[in-house]
Amino acid sequence: MKKHNFNAGPSILPRIAIENSAKAILDLNGSGLSLLEISHRSKDFQAIIDEAVALFKELLNIPANYHVLFLGGGASLQFCMVPYNLLKTKAAYLETGVWAQKAIKEAKFFGQVDIVASSSDKNFTYVPKNYTIPADADYFHITTNNTIYGSELHSDIDSPVPLVADMSSDILSRPVNVSKYAIIYGGAQKNLGPAGVTFVILREDILGKVDRPIPTMLNYKTHIKEGSLFNTPPCFAIYTCLETLRWIKNLGGMVKMEEMNKKKAQLLYDTIDNSKIFVGTVEKESRSLMNICFVMKEQYKDKEDAFMEFAKSKGMLGIKGHRSVGGFRASCYNALPIESVQALIDCMNEFEKANV
Ligand SMILES: *Cc1c(COP(=O)(O)O)cnc(C)c1O
Repeated sequence: MKKHNFNAGPSILPRIAIENSAKAILDLNGSGLSLLEISHRSKDFQAIIDEAVALFKELLNIPANYHVLFLGGGASLQFCMVPYNLLKTKAAYLETGVWAQKAIKEAKFFGQVDIVASSSDKNFTYVPKNYTIPADADYFHITTNNTIYGSELHSDIDSPVPLVADMSSDILSRPVNVSKYAIIYGGAQKNLGPAGVTFVILREDILGKVDRPIPTMLNYKTHIKEGSLFNTPPCFAIYTCLETLRWIKNLGGMVKMEEMNKKKAQLLYDTIDNSKIFVGTVEKESRSLMNICFVMKEQYKDKEDAFMEFAKSKGMLGIKGHRSVGGFRASCYNALPIESVQALIDCMNEFEKANV
Protein backbone atom coordinates (compact mmCIF):
# COMPACT_ATOMS: atom_id res chain seq x y z
CA MET A 1 0.00 0.00 0.00
CA LYS A 2 1.16 3.52 -0.76
CA LYS A 3 2.18 5.41 2.39
CA HIS A 4 1.48 9.09 2.88
CA ASN A 5 3.95 10.84 5.17
CA PHE A 6 2.35 13.63 7.21
CA ASN A 7 5.02 13.59 9.94
CA ALA A 8 5.64 16.93 11.67
CA GLY A 9 9.42 16.58 11.89
CA PRO A 10 11.66 14.96 10.97
CA SER A 11 9.41 14.79 7.98
CA ILE A 12 9.00 14.08 4.31
CA LEU A 13 11.84 15.07 1.98
CA PRO A 14 11.94 15.07 -1.81
CA ARG A 15 12.48 11.47 -2.98
CA ILE A 16 15.26 12.61 -5.29
CA ALA A 17 17.10 14.25 -2.36
CA ILE A 18 17.00 10.97 -0.46
CA GLU A 19 18.10 8.90 -3.45
CA ASN A 20 20.98 11.21 -4.29
CA SER A 21 22.04 11.30 -0.64
CA ALA A 22 22.04 7.50 -0.60
CA LYS A 23 24.21 7.47 -3.70
CA ALA A 24 26.61 9.99 -2.16
CA ILE A 25 26.95 7.75 0.88
CA LEU A 26 28.06 4.89 -1.35
CA ASP A 27 30.24 6.94 -3.67
CA LEU A 28 30.53 10.71 -3.79
CA ASN A 29 30.73 11.95 -7.39
CA GLY A 30 32.67 8.90 -8.57
CA SER A 31 35.49 9.60 -6.10
CA GLY A 32 35.42 6.06 -4.76
CA LEU A 33 34.83 7.43 -1.26
CA SER A 34 31.69 7.85 0.75
CA LEU A 35 30.39 11.29 1.68
CA LEU A 36 30.65 9.96 5.24
CA GLU A 37 34.39 9.36 5.08
CA ILE A 38 35.81 12.53 3.57
CA SER A 39 37.29 15.51 5.36
CA HIS A 40 35.09 18.52 5.92
CA ARG A 41 38.14 20.44 4.75
CA SER A 42 38.36 18.58 1.44
CA LYS A 43 37.69 20.27 -1.88
CA ASP A 44 34.70 17.98 -2.41
CA PHE A 45 33.01 19.03 0.80
CA GLN A 46 33.88 22.70 0.32
CA ALA A 47 32.08 22.53 -3.03
CA ILE A 48 29.02 21.03 -1.30
CA ILE A 49 28.71 23.66 1.41
CA ASP A 50 29.49 26.48 -1.03
CA GLU A 51 26.72 25.38 -3.35
CA ALA A 52 24.27 24.96 -0.47
CA VAL A 53 24.99 28.50 0.76
CA ALA A 54 24.79 29.91 -2.78
CA LEU A 55 21.47 28.19 -3.50
CA PHE A 56 19.99 29.33 -0.19
CA LYS A 57 20.96 32.90 -1.10
CA GLU A 58 19.63 32.59 -4.61
CA LEU A 59 16.30 30.97 -3.72
CA LEU A 60 15.48 33.39 -0.89
CA ASN A 61 17.00 36.36 -2.66
CA ILE A 62 19.21 37.02 0.36
CA PRO A 63 20.95 40.43 0.21
CA ALA A 64 24.75 40.55 -0.01
CA ASN A 65 25.25 41.80 3.55
CA TYR A 66 23.84 38.56 5.03
CA HIS A 67 25.62 35.31 5.88
CA VAL A 68 24.18 31.80 5.65
CA LEU A 69 25.52 29.41 8.29
CA PHE A 70 25.04 25.68 8.82
CA LEU A 71 25.51 24.85 12.50
CA GLY A 72 24.78 22.10 15.01
CA GLY A 73 22.57 22.22 18.09
CA GLY A 74 19.16 22.59 16.48
CA ALA A 75 16.81 25.54 16.63
CA SER A 76 16.89 24.99 20.40
CA LEU A 77 20.51 26.15 20.61
CA GLN A 78 19.55 29.27 18.66
CA PHE A 79 17.06 30.06 21.45
CA CYS A 80 20.21 30.59 23.53
CA MET A 81 22.66 31.92 20.90
CA VAL A 82 20.34 34.74 19.83
CA PRO A 83 20.16 36.41 23.26
CA TYR A 84 23.78 35.52 24.04
CA ASN A 85 24.89 37.52 20.99
CA LEU A 86 22.22 40.24 20.85
CA LEU A 87 20.58 40.89 24.22
CA LYS A 88 22.10 43.83 26.08
CA THR A 89 19.28 44.79 28.43
CA LYS A 90 15.88 43.95 27.00
CA ALA A 91 14.39 41.82 24.26
CA ALA A 92 10.81 41.61 22.99
CA TYR A 93 9.12 38.30 22.16
CA LEU A 94 5.83 37.27 20.60
CA GLU A 95 4.41 34.29 22.48
CA THR A 96 2.65 32.11 19.93
CA GLY A 97 3.27 28.58 21.16
CA VAL A 98 5.53 26.09 22.86
CA TRP A 99 8.57 26.86 20.72
CA ALA A 100 8.19 30.59 21.34
CA GLN A 101 7.95 29.87 25.07
CA LYS A 102 11.14 27.84 24.94
CA ALA A 103 12.89 30.72 23.18
CA ILE A 104 11.59 33.13 25.85
CA LYS A 105 12.87 30.90 28.63
CA GLU A 106 16.43 31.02 27.26
CA ALA A 107 16.36 34.78 26.66
CA LYS A 108 15.55 35.30 30.35
CA PHE A 109 19.01 33.98 31.23
CA PHE A 110 20.49 37.06 29.57
CA GLY A 111 18.24 39.99 30.40
CA GLN A 112 14.75 41.39 30.58
CA VAL A 113 12.14 39.87 28.30
CA ASP A 114 9.01 41.76 27.27
CA ILE A 115 6.26 39.54 25.95
CA VAL A 116 4.54 42.03 23.66
CA ALA A 117 1.55 39.79 22.96
CA SER A 118 0.49 36.22 23.56
CA SER A 119 -2.14 33.88 22.19
CA SER A 120 -1.95 31.62 25.23
CA ASP A 121 -5.45 32.78 26.24
CA LYS A 122 -6.90 30.66 23.42
CA ASN A 123 -4.43 27.77 23.41
CA PHE A 124 -2.37 29.46 20.69
CA THR A 125 -5.06 29.20 18.02
CA TYR A 126 -4.18 32.55 16.47
CA VAL A 127 -1.22 34.83 15.87
CA PRO A 128 -1.70 38.13 17.75
CA LYS A 129 -1.86 41.40 15.82
CA ASN A 130 -2.01 45.06 16.90
CA TYR A 131 0.72 45.01 19.50
CA THR A 132 3.47 47.54 20.07
CA ILE A 133 7.09 46.55 19.77
CA PRO A 134 9.11 48.57 22.30
CA ALA A 135 11.52 50.84 20.45
CA ASP A 136 14.17 50.32 23.14
CA ALA A 137 14.28 46.52 22.79
CA ASP A 138 17.52 45.05 21.44
CA TYR A 139 15.50 42.84 19.10
CA PHE A 140 12.03 41.40 18.53
CA HIS A 141 11.67 37.63 18.26
CA ILE A 142 8.86 35.84 16.41
CA THR A 143 8.06 32.25 15.48
CA THR A 144 6.67 32.45 11.96
CA ASN A 145 5.06 29.01 11.96
CA ASN A 146 3.83 27.31 15.10
CA THR A 147 4.39 23.69 14.24
CA ILE A 148 2.44 22.25 17.16
CA TYR A 149 -0.65 24.48 17.01
CA GLY A 150 -0.82 24.99 13.26
CA SER A 151 -0.80 28.78 13.18
CA GLU A 152 1.37 30.88 10.90
CA LEU A 153 2.33 34.46 10.26
CA HIS A 154 1.92 34.76 6.51
CA SER A 155 3.74 38.01 5.86
CA ASP A 156 7.00 39.69 6.77
CA ILE A 157 6.22 42.25 9.44
CA ASP A 158 7.83 45.63 10.01
CA SER A 159 9.76 46.06 13.23
CA PRO A 160 11.41 49.21 14.63
CA VAL A 161 14.11 47.00 16.19
CA PRO A 162 16.09 44.08 14.65
CA LEU A 163 13.68 41.29 13.83
CA VAL A 164 14.65 37.69 14.66
CA ALA A 165 12.58 34.80 13.36
CA ASP A 166 12.43 31.10 14.12
CA MET A 167 11.41 29.71 10.71
CA SER A 168 12.09 26.07 11.50
CA SER A 169 8.88 24.80 9.99
CA ASP A 170 8.12 27.23 7.17
CA ILE A 171 11.52 28.11 5.76
CA LEU A 172 11.51 27.88 1.97
CA SER A 173 7.74 27.45 1.85
CA ARG A 174 7.15 30.95 0.48
CA PRO A 175 9.17 33.94 -0.73
CA VAL A 176 10.55 35.93 2.22
CA ASN A 177 11.71 39.53 2.30
CA VAL A 178 14.95 38.71 4.12
CA SER A 179 15.94 42.37 4.36
CA LYS A 180 13.25 42.82 7.02
CA TYR A 181 15.04 40.40 9.34
CA ALA A 182 18.27 40.55 11.30
CA ILE A 183 18.36 36.79 11.88
CA ILE A 184 16.32 33.90 10.49
CA TYR A 185 17.09 30.47 11.90
CA GLY A 186 15.69 26.98 12.16
CA GLY A 187 16.31 23.29 12.43
CA ALA A 188 16.54 21.71 8.98
CA GLN A 189 14.41 18.69 9.80
CA LYS A 190 11.00 20.12 8.90
CA ASN A 191 11.26 21.47 5.39
CA LEU A 192 14.88 21.26 4.32
CA GLY A 193 16.86 18.20 5.28
CA PRO A 194 17.53 15.57 7.92
CA ALA A 195 17.95 16.29 11.63
CA GLY A 196 21.36 17.47 12.77
CA VAL A 197 21.86 20.76 10.98
CA THR A 198 20.55 24.24 11.75
CA PHE A 199 20.49 27.09 9.25
CA VAL A 200 21.14 30.67 10.35
CA ILE A 201 20.71 33.63 8.01
CA LEU A 202 22.23 36.66 9.65
CA ARG A 203 23.04 40.30 8.97
CA GLU A 204 26.52 40.90 10.27
CA ASP A 205 26.05 44.48 11.50
CA ILE A 206 23.82 43.35 14.38
CA LEU A 207 26.76 41.65 16.08
CA GLY A 208 29.35 43.10 18.43
CA LYS A 209 26.96 45.19 20.52
CA VAL A 210 26.86 43.19 23.74
CA ASP A 211 29.57 43.56 26.37
CA ARG A 212 29.57 40.04 27.78
CA PRO A 213 32.25 37.61 26.67
CA ILE A 214 30.79 34.95 24.37
CA PRO A 215 32.26 31.43 24.35
CA THR A 216 33.82 30.63 20.99
CA MET A 217 31.32 28.02 19.80
CA LEU A 218 28.34 30.19 20.75
CA ASN A 219 29.64 33.29 19.04
CA TYR A 220 28.17 33.87 15.58
CA LYS A 221 31.36 35.68 14.59
CA THR A 222 33.34 32.46 14.92
CA HIS A 223 31.13 30.67 12.43
CA ILE A 224 30.97 33.60 10.02
CA LYS A 225 34.74 33.89 10.03
CA GLU A 226 35.24 30.17 9.45
CA GLY A 227 32.44 29.72 6.92
CA SER A 228 30.61 27.24 9.21
CA LEU A 229 33.80 25.16 9.38
CA PHE A 230 35.20 26.22 12.76
CA ASN A 231 34.56 22.67 13.91
CA THR A 232 33.33 19.62 11.98
CA PRO A 233 29.87 20.50 10.69
CA PRO A 234 27.08 17.95 10.12
CA CYS A 235 28.43 17.08 6.67
CA PHE A 236 25.87 14.49 5.68
CA ALA A 237 22.88 16.60 6.74
CA ILE A 238 24.27 19.56 4.82
CA TYR A 239 24.56 17.39 1.73
CA THR A 240 20.89 16.41 1.88
CA CYS A 241 19.93 20.06 2.36
CA LEU A 242 21.85 20.81 -0.83
CA GLU A 243 19.87 18.15 -2.68
CA THR A 244 16.60 19.63 -1.39
CA LEU A 245 17.68 23.11 -2.45
CA ARG A 246 18.50 21.80 -5.93
CA TRP A 247 15.07 20.17 -6.09
CA ILE A 248 13.37 23.45 -5.13
CA LYS A 249 15.33 25.35 -7.75
CA ASN A 250 14.53 22.81 -10.46
CA LEU A 251 10.83 23.01 -9.67
CA GLY A 252 10.76 26.78 -10.00
CA GLY A 253 11.86 28.26 -6.66
CA MET A 254 9.90 29.98 -3.93
CA VAL A 255 7.00 31.25 -6.02
CA LYS A 256 6.32 27.71 -7.18
CA MET A 257 6.66 26.30 -3.64
CA GLU A 258 4.18 28.83 -2.31
CA GLU A 259 1.74 28.09 -5.11
CA MET A 260 1.94 24.34 -4.43
CA ASN A 261 1.63 24.81 -0.68
CA LYS A 262 -1.38 27.11 -1.01
CA LYS A 263 -3.11 24.65 -3.29
CA LYS A 264 -2.56 21.70 -0.96
CA ALA A 265 -3.64 23.63 2.14
CA GLN A 266 -6.70 25.03 0.40
CA LEU A 267 -7.89 21.55 -0.56
CA LEU A 268 -7.54 20.26 2.97
CA TYR A 269 -9.00 23.32 4.72
CA ASP A 270 -11.96 23.30 2.33
CA THR A 271 -12.61 19.69 3.25
CA ILE A 272 -12.41 20.50 6.95
CA ASP A 273 -14.70 23.52 6.59
CA ASN A 274 -17.29 21.56 4.63
CA SER A 275 -17.20 18.59 6.97
CA LYS A 276 -19.96 17.59 9.35
CA ILE A 277 -17.59 15.86 11.73
CA PHE A 278 -14.20 17.58 11.46
CA VAL A 279 -13.44 21.12 12.54
CA GLY A 280 -10.26 23.20 12.26
CA THR A 281 -8.63 24.39 15.48
CA VAL A 282 -7.03 27.63 14.28
CA GLU A 283 -8.64 30.98 13.41
CA LYS A 284 -8.90 31.26 9.64
CA GLU A 285 -6.47 34.09 8.97
CA SER A 286 -3.77 32.47 11.11
CA ARG A 287 -4.03 29.00 9.62
CA SER A 288 -0.72 27.40 8.74
CA LEU A 289 -0.05 26.13 5.24
CA MET A 290 2.46 23.71 6.72
CA ASN A 291 0.77 22.10 9.74
CA ILE A 292 -2.95 21.66 9.36
CA CYS A 293 -4.65 20.91 12.68
CA PHE A 294 -8.19 19.65 13.08
CA VAL A 295 -10.27 17.76 15.60
CA MET A 296 -13.67 16.11 15.64
CA LYS A 297 -16.69 18.17 16.57
CA GLU A 298 -17.93 17.68 20.14
CA GLN A 299 -20.67 15.21 19.27
CA TYR A 300 -18.23 13.00 17.36
CA LYS A 301 -15.26 13.19 19.77
CA ASP A 302 -15.56 9.49 20.61
CA LYS A 303 -14.79 8.65 16.97
CA GLU A 304 -11.28 10.10 16.94
CA ASP A 305 -9.57 6.80 17.68
CA ALA A 306 -11.64 5.05 15.05
CA PHE A 307 -10.68 7.63 12.44
CA MET A 308 -7.04 7.30 13.40
CA GLU A 309 -7.21 3.54 12.86
CA PHE A 310 -9.11 3.95 9.60
CA ALA A 311 -6.61 6.50 8.30
CA LYS A 312 -3.73 4.22 9.24
CA SER A 313 -5.35 1.37 7.33
CA LYS A 314 -5.36 3.65 4.28
CA GLY A 315 -1.65 4.42 4.56
CA MET A 316 -1.81 7.79 6.37
CA LEU A 317 1.24 8.26 8.62
CA GLY A 318 1.94 10.85 11.27
CA ILE A 319 -1.48 12.50 11.45
CA LYS A 320 -1.87 12.29 15.21
CA GLY A 321 -2.14 15.79 16.69
CA HIS A 322 0.40 16.96 19.25
CA ARG A 323 -0.70 16.10 22.79
CA SER A 324 -1.28 19.79 23.61
CA VAL A 325 -3.89 20.09 20.83
CA GLY A 326 -5.22 16.56 20.39
CA GLY A 327 -7.07 15.41 17.29
CA PHE A 328 -5.13 15.44 14.06
CA ARG A 329 -2.29 17.31 12.43
CA ALA A 330 -1.45 16.86 8.78
CA SER A 331 1.94 18.38 8.08
CA CYS A 332 2.05 19.37 4.43
CA TYR A 333 5.64 20.43 3.87
CA ASN A 334 7.09 21.29 0.45
CA ALA A 335 7.91 17.69 -0.42
CA LEU A 336 4.46 16.30 0.36
CA PRO A 337 2.80 15.53 -2.97
CA ILE A 338 -0.71 16.79 -3.62
CA GLU A 339 -1.72 13.14 -4.15
CA SER A 340 -1.13 12.53 -0.45
CA VAL A 341 -3.41 15.44 0.47
CA GLN A 342 -6.04 14.04 -1.89
CA ALA A 343 -5.68 10.59 -0.32
CA LEU A 344 -6.24 12.04 3.15
CA ILE A 345 -9.26 13.96 1.92
CA ASP A 346 -10.73 10.79 0.37
CA CYS A 347 -10.14 9.04 3.64
CA MET A 348 -11.89 11.80 5.63
CA ASN A 349 -14.85 11.85 3.25
CA GLU A 350 -15.22 8.10 3.31
CA PHE A 351 -15.12 8.02 7.11
CA GLU A 352 -17.66 10.80 7.32
CA LYS A 353 -20.04 9.02 4.98
CA ALA A 354 -19.87 5.88 7.07
CA ASN A 355 -20.27 7.65 10.40
CA VAL A 356 -22.71 10.54 10.02
C1 LIG B 1 10.91 21.71 15.65
C2 LIG B 1 10.98 23.14 16.03
C3 LIG B 1 11.95 23.63 16.91
C4 LIG B 1 12.97 22.74 17.57
O1 LIG B 1 13.96 22.41 16.72
P1 LIG B 1 15.23 21.54 17.18
O2 LIG B 1 16.05 21.55 15.95
O3 LIG B 1 14.71 20.20 17.56
O4 LIG B 1 15.86 22.24 18.32
C5 LIG B 1 11.96 24.99 17.17
N1 LIG B 1 11.07 25.82 16.63
C6 LIG B 1 10.11 25.38 15.79
C7 LIG B 1 9.14 26.35 15.21
C8 LIG B 1 10.04 24.03 15.47
O5 LIG B 1 9.08 23.58 14.64
